[in-house]
Amino acid sequence: MTRDKKRKAEIREAQRSTGHRYVRLAREMTAAARLPAGTFRLSELLAECATLPPADIEWGFPDEYAPAVFESRLIGRAVPYGTVLELAGALAQQGPGARITVESMSPLSQAIVVCRERRFQLLLSQNMVNELCRKAGCDGSPDCWALTRCPRHLAECDTNALVSMARNWGNGRRDEFEHDPERLGGSREADLLIRAAVAGGSFERVRAVLLDACFGDPNLYDDMYLDASVALAMQHALEREKLRLYEVAHAEAKRIREATGACTTCGVSLMGWNPGVPPQLCFTCAPPPPAEHLSPAFSWLAAQPDADQE
Ligand SMILES: [Zn+2]
Ligand SMILES: [Zn+2]
Repeated sequence: MTRDKKRKAEIREAQRSTGHRYVRLAREMTAAARLPAGTFRLSELLAECATLPPADIEWGFPDEYAPAVFESRLIGRAVPYGTVLELAGALAQQGPGARITVESMSPLSQAIVVCRERRFQLLLSQNMVNELCRKAGCDGSPDCWALTRCPRHLAECDTNALVSMARNWGNGRRDEFEHDPERLGGSREADLLIRAAVAGGSFERVRAVLLDACFGDPNLYDDMYLDASVALAMQHALEREKLRLYEVAHAEAKRIREATGACTTCGVSLMGWNPGVPPQLCFTCAPPPPAEHLSPAFSWLAAQPDADQE
């Protein structure tokens, strides 16, 4: 049988067993056949999950604590049904066509899979999935839903990625605490983003986006809040957070400078901190500032210099 005839026979067989249309099956099976080894689609994993019988596993602990599992040909191990369903939930936005690759495997313990840039730890002895840092090989987890990397690797993100995380996180914070301005600032997540931005010389841009997302434009407070005391509380909370983030950034720049000692490119001693320059570089070796400037919406931030800026 030629390769083409064999392919057509397989599609007809799938048509008989599933009842689906030939054209649709041909498209799906061709796409699946093109995937590299070790890569599969979420729909294939869900099909296994929906059709394969439970497997018998010697866990080494009482059965009542063990999850129901099936032998997955795609993962290459027994996987809990609940773990697969949780992964499907995490990939809901990508849909059933999401391409999944197995990155690594520890039998009876965990499988790490990758979908686009996202990495997931599938627990094989519990019905559970954890989203991991996007740095390949890292087993750390981001601190919250808006961050894509663990605290150790956040500083490796470029400015645009940090800006996007700052905006998402700030918007979420505002939705949660707008009624309570005292709680908008002072978070560990903001500190992590700011420290990562300092390392790349993008502190001011990331802080501007973060404050705008969290607190909104103070020029609109009088219109937004009928109660003048609320507008004033927002204004105070914003000023306090702006200064606090500067202090977080200043301390981080000092820490980086002390750790490196001299410019990592040319070796000259490092002088004062310029927020637009990575603290591990001298002003001569610093890369040119990014083309993007503060948008007009953030002009109120630029107009309020920090009290103790160097
Ligand atoms: Zn990491
Ligand atoms: Zn230098």
